[in-house]
Amino acid sequence: MNIIDIITKKKNKQELTYEDLDFVINGFMKNEIKDYQISSLLMAIVINGMTLEETSFLTDIMIKSGDLIDLELGDLVDKHSTGGVGDKTTLILAPLVASTGVHVAKMSGRGLGHTGGTIDKLESIDGFKVELTKQEFISQVNKIGVSVISQTGNIAPADKKLYALRDVTGTTESIPLIASSIMSKKIASGAKYIVIDVKVGNGALIKNISDAKKLSEYMIHIGKKYERKVVCVLTNMDYPLGNNIGNGLEVIESINCLKGNGPKDLEKLVIKLGTLMVSLAKKVDIKEAEQEIKENLTNNKAYLKFEEFVNAQSGDLNKIEISNRIFSIKSNKEGFINYIDTFKLGEIVKNIGGGRQNKEDTIDYGVGIVLNKKTGDLVFENEEILKIYLNKKDVKISEVLDCFVISDILEEKQKLILDIIE
Ligand code: URA
Repeated sequence: MNIIDIITKKKNKQELTYEDLDFVINGFMKNEIKDYQISSLLMAIVINGMTLEETSFLTDIMIKSGDLIDLELGDLVDKHSTGGVGDKTTLILAPLVASTGVHVAKMSGRGLGHTGGTIDKLESIDGFKVELTKQEFISQVNKIGVSVISQTGNIAPADKKLYALRDVTGTTESIPLIASSIMSKKIASGAKYIVIDVKVGNGALIKNISDAKKLSEYMIHIGKKYERKVVCVLTNMDYPLGNNIGNGLEVIESINCLKGNGPKDLEKLVIKLGTLMVSLAKKVDIKEAEQEIKENLTNNKAYLKFEEFVNAQSGDLNKIEISNRIFSIKSNKEGFINYIDTFKLGEIVKNIGGGRQNKEDTIDYGVGIVLNKKTGDLVFENEEILKIYLNKKDVKISEVLDCFVISDILEEKQKLILDIIE
């Protein structure tokens, strides 16, 4: 068996066997197969796809690349997002769900492509430790009910290595690669109930509803093989979630939401996902779970749990990195915002330092965008559309303004929650 034959097989749209994929992943992990060869295979997969069976094989091999964790914490519920722009839901959901008494033991990722990652966001809080030992992780969850850490060396390490390579090789947007990446991590880390926020739209890795449904089917099918309950919530990513984009700025917006002052779309999604998580974990009906989630967003319980969680991981909430080179970007015409190129906006934040161009890049946590106007809003000429927070890098104003389509007639705004599949 050799890697060139396997790349050629996928290039010619043939199915890969378990043995082929096992050879690839093991060789990659031992550095016997080079990054450039894996990149070539990944691109062939992005273009030619993989069957459900190939995707299940890849998931199984990635699970077995590390430890299967049983955290001895009972039937855990977990949530994962396929990635979007301004998606800070984990920062809110983890303490919110924990504030209802449900244990949240979560491993999260870094930014991928133009989308942000929870771990990068948490690191914008000074001192926040994203790496804990397994024992520290378990004891924190037992003590305060919540911990969020980065993917440790031992949980699906093959995904960790592939994910970093996909991020910088334009190979993020693929149903089988996303499904195997998410499911290998979730299964290896022991979650029994898994709520997946499948982002759909121009700012997401998945651009249309039929691909989102296919991705959901793949993940639900893989979940069943390992006796995990998977619920997929398909949500709109044709506009950023909330108003803030960028690591530190998203932490600030999450804090506002935890105090009951979040933007409406963000709050609505947090309530939907939180309700599903609590109802699965506590085996209570949706109404009861929803009531508890809504109450804890307004009675300060969720925020206090967030403070406890950040303190436990040595973060200092008085020191959240926010840049102070702030520029107001104003509209050059009057009209309704009918479209936001969310992908481009995500790319802009990445390019001003909020994300990585290369695997080794460090993040500028303080940069980003705060939107003053979103899809459906009326804007006057010279009125502020957004503020941009810069540090070392600059951006052309016209490039930012080009992300907004402004017209005389208001078009109908699409729904936030598009479907729920289980
Ligand atoms: N989240 C993941 O963990 N993996 C992907 O491939 C995409 C989103």
